Amino acid sequence: MSKKKVVIIGGGFAGINCAKKLKNASLDITLIDKKNHHLFQPLLYQVATSTLSAPDIATPLRSLFKKQTNLKVIMGSVVTIDKQEKLIFLENGESIPFDYLVIATGTRHSYFGKDEWEEIAPGLKTISDAVKIREKILISFEKAERMEDTESQKPYLQFAIIGGGPTGVEMAGAIAELANKTLKNNFRNIDPSTSKIYLIEGLDRILPTFPSTLSHKAKENLSKMGVEVMTQKMVTHIDEEGVHFDGDFIPSKNIIWAAGNQASPLLKTLSTPLDKQGRAIVEQDLSITHFSNIFVIGDASCSYDIGKKVLPGIAPVAIQQGKYIAKILKKDLSTEKRFPFVYFDKGSLATIGKNKAVGCFRKWTFSGVFAYFIWAFVHILYLVSFRNRIAVGLEWVFHYLNNSRRARLITKNIDKT
Ligand SMILES: Cc1cc2nc3c(=O)[nH]c(=O)nc-3n(C[C@H](O)[C@H](O)[C@H](O)COP(=O)(O)OP(=O)(O)OC[C@H]3O[C@@H](n4cnc5c(N)ncnc54)[C@H](O)[C@@H]3O)c2cc1C
Repeated sequence: MSKKKVVIIGGGFAGINCAKKLKNASLDITLIDKKNHHLFQPLLYQVATSTLSAPDIATPLRSLFKKQTNLKVIMGSVVTIDKQEKLIFLENGESIPFDYLVIATGTRHSYFGKDEWEEIAPGLKTISDAVKIREKILISFEKAERMEDTESQKPYLQFAIIGGGPTGVEMAGAIAELANKTLKNNFRNIDPSTSKIYLIEGLDRILPTFPSTLSHKAKENLSKMGVEVMTQKMVTHIDEEGVHFDGDFIPSKNIIWAAGNQASPLLKTLSTPLDKQGRAIVEQDLSITHFSNIFVIGDASCSYDIGKKVLPGIAPVAIQQGKYIAKILKKDLSTEKRFPFVYFDKGSLATIGKNKAVGCFRKWTFSGVFAYFIWAFVHILYLVSFRNRIAVGLEWVFHYLNNSRRARLITKNIDKT
């Protein structure tokens, strides 16, 4: 009898954890990703702020699965899914059949209908996003150094981060440390520590998914680092000159978007109910309505916890969902025999800067040095390859000891930017 065909779209946390758990299964697995690597997104902000290099947080999918003989990797972008015919189509027109389909395509940033802002205010999702932001930040300091009057320098030394979730907080803290510590004494005409960093949030507090005590702690820490935290500010317009909001304006050549997410457009081809962010609303076993052989997991799915709370788009949810689906596929479980997916909440962590982080586990909250080291330990642990763990660990030791950031490279021509 021929083996059942499993197609997994997406080599992020959800996809690779599902694939790895199927290591010894008698299945014919195809893992498809438009990129050739798995990316550890939680540390992208460190690539964007020059602490880490791109390969430190990315691992080629082929090397991850070189020993898994029941799996082949295909690099390609899936553009359509035909549920009835059990086929997926790649951008080049090629089709691939499946018995089971696992969609783990994650999200991209959303500009709430103002897509033209992306060019000016890039978001952080991929390696190329991070490198683009890194060059933008470093080039700004270089340009300011070449200017004589402080008024012309101002927009280059002002940084506006839109969105006060963990990514925005981490970016703001890292840019503050870059300007105040790493770049100290590196320039002759400017003093990078005079840079202004703004963190703009529409809600009444930053880190809105954390307990409010931790939001206040984070704000206090950021303020001490020179970041101006602005809450209840809705951005109305972004252009080459800066950010406009509520009748106010911040001149800035460095605007970073960390405000919203939108699921992959691929999900629209499924013709299944989607939520406001375009995520597929799934059943308790993470399959889509009426199609028990098609699953949507990780950031791409809108799934519920006990009590009907929507699960957050974070790595532990994606990892646990990937492993859960593998159990179903391994045993070829029919719908009646499947237990509902139950999320085990391992808590949340966000770092603000050196020795500064906040975290919570159930009703327990913690912050400061302790939270910082827990954050560092957890992130090293979750990196998928041993080599990356060593590389990141070593970079962090040097960074911790002398604030160095080795990846301060600009490859663009400054006069063409
Ligand atoms: C900057 C940043 C910081 C974060 N920090 C944290 C954190 O501190 N803690 C935490 O828990 N979570 C964090 N997250 C969230 C976490 O990274 C996500 O929840 C997690 O990556 C989701 O995993 P996933 O597998 O669902 O999607 P992803 O990891 O996004 O993977 C999706 C994969 O699908 C591929 N793909 C997409 N569309 C297609 C297509 N049409 N065809 C083929 N391939 C496709 C993509 O190339 C990608 O490899 C952060 C995210 C970002 C962006």
